[in-house]
Amino acid sequence: MLTNLRPIQVLLVEDTENDAIFVTRLLECNPSLNFSVRRADTLEAAISLMGAEDFDVSLLDLSLPDAKGLESFDKIRAMDARLPVVVLTDLNDEELALLAIESGAQDFMSKDHITGQMLYRSLIFAIARQQKVLGFQAAADTDPLTGMPNRRHLKTWFTESLESTRISGTEMSIAILDLDHFKRINDEHGHFVGDAVLRHVGKFLAESIGPRMLAARFGGEEFAILMPGYPLPIAVSFIDRTLRELASEKVTAGDLAISVTSSAGVINTPPNDCWDAAYMACDVLLYEAKTSGRNRLASKDRSRETVGCLKHA
Ligand code: GH3
Ligand code: MG
Ligand code: MG
Ligand code: MG
Repeated sequence: MLTNLRPIQVLLVEDTENDAIFVTRLLECNPSLNFSVRRADTLEAAISLMGAEDFDVSLLDLSLPDAKGLESFDKIRAMDARLPVVVLTDLNDEELALLAIESGAQDFMSKDHITGQMLYRSLIFAIARQQKVLGFQAAADTDPLTGMPNRRHLKTWFTESLESTRISGTEMSIAILDLDHFKRINDEHGHFVGDAVLRHVGKFLAESIGPRMLAARFGGEEFAILMPGYPLPIAVSFIDRTLRELASEKVTAGDLAISVTSSAGVINTPPNDCWDAAYMACDVLLYEAKTSGRNRLASKDRSRETVGCLKHA
């Protein structure tokens, strides 16, 4: 939060010397809040400062020698989507500034009409608003029962991970796990116990996954594990071990000690994959694992498949 204990770190991206000096003075001479301003005069310099230091907010001129218009905003966003950005504009730039707001900038200020108070209020409001937005986003991406990432988060992660594995030429694997005969647990012991089992499984999976993996609660008693950079055979042996370890766990609820098994479908993703095709492939395999006896997995190598996705999604 905003306190006087630590200066508010401002990344000022501004190529015009006089404007940069003016803005820096306004902020650093502020009597009530302590600002520390680091200036970059190009987008490239800004990106490299962001890689080296942490900032609380950015003040961004939309006209830079190496980036015009929204390009600089988009690149700063891609580098750090959490950083609140206040756009600095010339008088005739208001249309562009509005576009920046629509793309997620917190505020814009016309350089010709800046006072110290306007500037610092804009920055601290931008930081406070962005914290709220990030809080809403975190809530929207989290399953309330288990605290795990939810299906929405999983889909975003799938798209981002597919892109990065495509760029690095590596493979991504995915598993969907479904608890076996879970309805019986609810029927025999009640939903409260069923919920405890789901929380236990969620915690177990979150603690079992390897680096760069994501475990999510996908639906009712279904969980998904995304494994970017893990080839199918490695993913299969990881999921196989996970199923066996999960089956040997005892979930305690009151006096009860319950065992639960699960089945899984495991796939890899061809570079042109999309969420719907990957999910459908997992679901078919999961059905196969269920019908062939449960407490097992079924897998498929899809690396040579041509997937009929309209676009990379
Ligand atoms: P199968 O081995 O074929 O997967 O059988 P199943 O009983 O696990 O599958 P089914 O789809 O018939 O039942 C899933 C049950 O999961 C039904 C639903 O009431 C329960 N369920 C879904 N979400 C929750 C939840 O949040 N809490 C609890 N306690 N139960 C849930
Ligand atoms: Mg400029
Ligand atoms: Mg199910
Ligand atoms: Mg089930």
